[in-house]
Amino acid sequence: MTASLEDKLKNRIREAGPMSVAEYMTVCLLDPVQGYYPTRDPLGAEGDFITAPEISQMFGEVLGLWCVQSWIDMGRPDSFHLIEYGPGRGIMMSDMLRSASLDAGFKAAVQVWLIEASAALEAVQGRTLAAAGVPIQWAARLEDIPAGPSLIIGNEFLDCLPIQQLICDDPFAGKKGWVERRVGLDDEERLCFVKIDVPAASILTDKLPEGARDARKDDLLETCPSAAQIVDSLTARFSDHPGRALFIDYGPEDTEFGDTLQALKRHEKVGVFSDPGNTDLTARVDFAALAQTAQAAGLDVSAAVPQREFLSKLGLEMRAVTLTRAKPDAKPVIARQLHRLTDAEEMGELFKAICLSSAGLAAPLGLR
Ligand code: SAH
Repeated sequence: MTASLEDKLKNRIREAGPMSVAEYMTVCLLDPVQGYYPTRDPLGAEGDFITAPEISQMFGEVLGLWCVQSWIDMGRPDSFHLIEYGPGRGIMMSDMLRSASLDAGFKAAVQVWLIEASAALEAVQGRTLAAAGVPIQWAARLEDIPAGPSLIIGNEFLDCLPIQQLICDDPFAGKKGWVERRVGLDDEERLCFVKIDVPAASILTDKLPEGARDARKDDLLETCPSAAQIVDSLTARFSDHPGRALFIDYGPEDTEFGDTLQALKRHEKVGVFSDPGNTDLTARVDFAALAQTAQAAGLDVSAAVPQREFLSKLGLEMRAVTLTRAKPDAKPVIARQLHRLTDAEEMGELFKAICLSSAGLAAPLGLR
C-alpha cells in the first residue's frame, strides 16, 4: 500500500526536522500524486469551496467588460495575451470571453493563456472553453508565455500561494527579532506548529511589509514570497510591453497580525493538519504587502477596493436587471447571487480587487 501524504510529511519531518509552513502548503496542495489540486475538481456545491465565478455568470461577464476597457487603455493592440492564473474550472474565462467578444476588435486580437498547476483542472478548463472561439493555450509559468501586451487576471489564486509564518520574539531587535513558525511533530507524533528558537533566515525577513514595524511580542506575521516572485515576473513582462494584472481575493487592506491559515472541506472549516492533501488550504492575502512590493518594483498600483464597490462600478446591478428581464423566473436566484457577491456580510467587503499596471496607462476601470 502506498504511504498516505500525512505519513510522507511525518517521515520528512523525522528525517530533516520541522518544515516551513510554505513547504507544508506546497506539498499538501500540489504534490503531483497525492496533493489536493492535482487529484480532484474541488469547486462547486459538491466540492469543498465555491468562488465568485461559480456563484454567478455575472461576475465573469462584468470582468469581461473590464478587460475590453483595459485593452482599449493599452491602445487596442492587434494581438495581446489574456492570461489567467489558477483558472479553476474555466468558468470565469468563459463568461469573460462571452461578454468581451461583443467587441470584434478584442475578439480578433485576444490570445488566451491559462496558468494551471493541476492536470485534473486543466482537463476541465479544456472542456469548458472548447467552444470559446478564440485560441486557448496553457503555460506552466508566466515566463513561458511569449512577450507582448498582456492582461492578467487571478481570482482566488493568491490565497492558495504558500505562506511563511513568523513570530515576533523581540520587538526591539528589528529583523533579527523574528523567529519562524514551522510544522513539526508533537510528543504523540502528530503534526503541529513549532516555534524555532533562532532568528529566522534573512531571506524571510529582508522584505517585511511596512506594517511589520508595529509588531508586539508574540505577534504572528504571514508573508508570501511567491506573491513577491509573481510581482517580479510581472515587472519583467511589463518592461517592454504594456500590461495590467488584476487580482481578486480575500484579505485586509492593511497588514494585520495573526494566523490565518485555514483548511476547508465540504464548505466547513477543519483543522489545517486534519487530513493533509484532502483539504483546501488558503491564507488571507496581505494587500498592503503586495502593493508595497509592486510599488517598489516600479509598477502603478491601485488601492485594494472592496469587491462590492468594484463590481458595482463595473455595472453588476445593471447586468442583474438585464438578466432578470430576459429570465423573469430566475429573479430570486439572480437576486441571491447579487447578494452573495456584494453584501458586506458575504463577499462584498472581505474580498478586494487590486490592479498592478505598467507605468503610463490610464487609471483602470472601477478602481481608484
Ligand atoms: N480562479 C478559480 C479557481 C480558484 S481555486 C475560481 O475563482 O473559481 C485556485 C486555482 O489555482 C485552482 O485552479 C488551482 O489548481 C490553481 N493553483 C493553485 N496553486 C497554483 C500554482 N502554484 N500555479 C498555478 N495554479 C495554481
